[in-house]
Amino acid sequence: MRTPLITEIQRFSLQDGPGIRTTIFFKGCPLHCPWCHNPENLNPENEFYFYAGKCTACGRCAKICPSGALKAICVPDKNAVLNFDKSKCTLCMKCVDVCLFGAREVVGKSLDIDSIVREAVADKMFYKHSGGGVTISGGEPLLFPDFTLELARILKTKEQVHITIETSCFANWDKIEPLLEFVDLFIVDIKSMDPEKIEYVVGGSHKKILSNIEKLINSGVAVRIHLPIIPGFNDSASDTKSYVDYLSQFADKLSGVDVLPFHSYATGKYAQLNREYQYKGISDLQSQKIMPLVNALNKKGLRQVTVGGIAKTASTSNIE
Ligand code: SF4
Ligand code: SF4
Repeated sequence: MRTPLITEIQRFSLQDGPGIRTTIFFKGCPLHCPWCHNPENLNPENEFYFYAGKCTACGRCAKICPSGALKAICVPDKNAVLNFDKSKCTLCMKCVDVCLFGAREVVGKSLDIDSIVREAVADKMFYKHSGGGVTISGGEPLLFPDFTLELARILKTKEQVHITIETSCFANWDKIEPLLEFVDLFIVDIKSMDPEKIEYVVGGSHKKILSNIEKLINSGVAVRIHLPIIPGFNDSASDTKSYVDYLSQFADKLSGVDVLPFHSYATGKYAQLNREYQYKGISDLQSQKIMPLVNALNKKGLRQVTVGGIAKTASTSNIE
């Protein structure tokens, strides 16, 4: 069974499904959306964060680094400067262990299913009173189909909690279908209605994604759609029209649509992971930019159309 690293188990989460939830974030995704808001969940392997503000350039990490990836360099009239050559790093994590200042932190830890379940059911009482439960998210849970299935099965059959899965639906249907027995709600991202953008920018198959979404809808399971709206990628009038034309076919079947305007909160994470961020410096998308889409979805009779997610905004009626 392919096992994911877990980057976070977030308790009292209010945006990843109904009620109060615990959200489990798997590390690893088959797509590579350049705006990704959770870049720590893209790569399935271990990584580390480097917090430059905490680093005193003491050089302990450079001394222990076996591959020469880290070097403390003396700069005249300045303190030593730490130089990092990512191409030489073997991810041995020795530098994390020796840092006394908390400037380095491993991203992602190995947890077995029993430990995840134990932590996930700690707030069961809150799920009961709020209509909440557990959300399996990422990254992409379907990259680890057997692990996801087993986790969902235990949580549903032994613990009787409401299960939500957040997914791009970029997987073979035979990995999704077995989940129908245990999952109460699928939250599925549609990143564009343009097959070429999905293939060349995001790295998936539009045909496979839409086919899976339609199979989910026709199965009768609850489905919400997430529409991340990204400046210059899918925020034009024609993008709006394609979304509305497609989703209006399922107006009486979808549980809801959450329109998620681009924000730049992830900028710091890209720097801490020593990764380039193509959206660096791009401003947050103002909500009025996405109101034509929200209003058009409402006019077509889509239920529970929100801006920002389930808890953040109750469903929006037409706003002109
Ligand atoms: S050990 Fe920590 S504080 Fe010292 S140079 Fe390395 S990262 Fe900076
Ligand atoms: S994780 Fe990379 S940078 Fe850190 S000690 Fe190991 S090889 Fe060096």
